[in-house]
Amino acid sequence: MKRVLVATSNSGKIRDLAGAAAAHHVQIETLPGFSSLPEVIEDGLTFEANARKKAEHYSKYAEGELVIADDSGLEVDALGGAPGVRSARYAADEHNPPEHAPNSDDEANNARLLRELHDVPDEYRTGRFVCAIAVARNGHSLATFEGKAEGILLRSPRGSNGFGYDPLFYFAEIGKTFAELSAEEKALYSHRGAAFRAFLAWEDESHEQHPHTDR
Ligand code: IMP
Repeated sequence: MKRVLVATSNSGKIRDLAGAAAAHHVQIETLPGFSSLPEVIEDGLTFEANARKKAEHYSKYAEGELVIADDSGLEVDALGGAPGVRSARYAADEHNPPEHAPNSDDEANNARLLRELHDVPDEYRTGRFVCAIAVARNGHSLATFEGKAEGILLRSPRGSNGFGYDPLFYFAEIGKTFAELSAEEKALYSHRGAAFRAFLAWEDESHEQHPHTDR
């Protein structure tokens, strides 16, 4: 089975990617030793810039291998596109200067989102998840892929699967939040599923040889 190396320790992202990969008989693997590698400062202004930065940086630690990295977040129309690239640090950003804001936990981020949207009427509570996946080898980006998923931000959480803002993100097409879906179901509709499938298509088309494969 083909394996894809991912530069992340975010268990929510790994679950999503594994859910997307399952339909293609691909296995997701975290870059060996990822947690002890020096971290990247995610100061890019776009998801794509941050994804490239991560993929380039971490691919230096897996010589010759294709390494993918995901940068993603939630854009809410009524908040001018916030939290956007600051999605992982939305709550921390309230009390810290941007360069010092650590990642905040999902509960705190969701609580801030609900507060910011408190007075926003239902018809204006639109937003989207965006995911950029970059692929790099030996420190050089080879390509990036983007996926989006449009939804409505609820007033209270629903469901206990997934991560991040999933319990507040209502996907009208199936009448459920992303937190009410299995990993495989979420992958069919999600920004991350779409970006990952674009990566797999690129890999097939470009006949990129994956050294990390026993296919
Ligand atoms: P990153 O690690 O800088 O890419 O930040 C990603 C953040 O965006 C996560 O911590 C979540 O808050 C949010 N996010 C991205 N994708 C999803 C998703 O699929 N569901 C829920 N939240 C997401």
